[in-house]
Amino acid sequence: MTEPLLQLRHLSKFFVVERSLLGRTISVLKAVDDLSFDIMPGETFGLVGESGCGKTTVGKMLVNLYRPTAGRILYQGTDLTGLPARERRRYCRDIQLIFQDPYASLNPRMTVGDIVAEPIRVNRLLPRDKVDDRVGYLFNAVGLSANYRNRFPHEFSGGQRQRVGIARALAMEPKLIVCDEPVSALDVSVQAQVLNLLAELSVQFGLTYLFIAHGLNVVKHVSDRVGVMYLGRLVEVAPKRDLYRNPLHPYTKALLSAIPVTNPAQRRTRILLEGDVSSPIDPAPGCRFAGRCYAKTGCAGCACDTQLPELVEVSPGHFVACYLHPAVG
Ligand code: SF4
Repeated sequence: MTEPLLQLRHLSKFFVVERSLLGRTISVLKAVDDLSFDIMPGETFGLVGESGCGKTTVGKMLVNLYRPTAGRILYQGTDLTGLPARERRRYCRDIQLIFQDPYASLNPRMTVGDIVAEPIRVNRLLPRDKVDDRVGYLFNAVGLSANYRNRFPHEFSGGQRQRVGIARALAMEPKLIVCDEPVSALDVSVQAQVLNLLAELSVQFGLTYLFIAHGLNVVKHVSDRVGVMYLGRLVEVAPKRDLYRNPLHPYTKALLSAIPVTNPAQRRTRILLEGDVSSPIDPAPGCRFAGRCYAKTGCAGCACDTQLPELVEVSPGHFVACYLHPAVG
């Protein structure tokens, strides 16, 4: 059986919000709290949740921009979190990030050719005389003319800039790319083009993706499996088909009900979430979704307000963290 490319085990990232005069921690923000999932080689794993749920923090831990507070990141079986900084950097080449904002992520003083060539030069991946050819190849791979290489980022549209960002990520010959909301800043007409490009590149370069998005409509078209996050916790993980046909967690159902559909037969009743969003700073002991959960009354006597539900596998590959399911509790 194939081994996972990436395994996250009880991964957490807490930020200290307040300290006493003596330096004692008074309150912490739990951005990511006890996250575990695997990504198989060649798979696209969609990670979904509203702004502030911790999904970008997960991506930043994977590319070594944040150090985890607890837990392990196993890449091809090697625990990256236990490695000294120098050793850890060796693996940075394999895991690259595509940023959300193509307008802010490219250096405006560099030509796009230099932006793509920079990681090749800095990491001495190729002899100097071969770098130009490689840049031209990468431009073609992302659908840009190699003749554009001497232009500056401000001369390109948002979609073209995102293509430059993708070419730069590919320059490191990665195996896993963290796509952090790569289309959310683009016009709707351009989003599909970039999503199609990412799908083609995954086949051409044998890539695996962690695809981060805030809505289920985007990941529907690109993911093999989907994980739904709420306030730092995974609340549901399932193969795409299972999740869209048979969502189990009330929050997943609310997200799905917000997707516009053209076929009236597929239309779901819109679920509008009310109530207060719990604070990720020193959160209450119960389910993180309890303050907005419209289904809570359906499990009278359950531990919604007092105990965090664990993520439990309730059918092959389908995990949920909600006391409404009899297997959880
Ligand atoms: Fe709602 Fe309770 Fe399920 Fe949380 S555990 S989602 S509060 S029903």
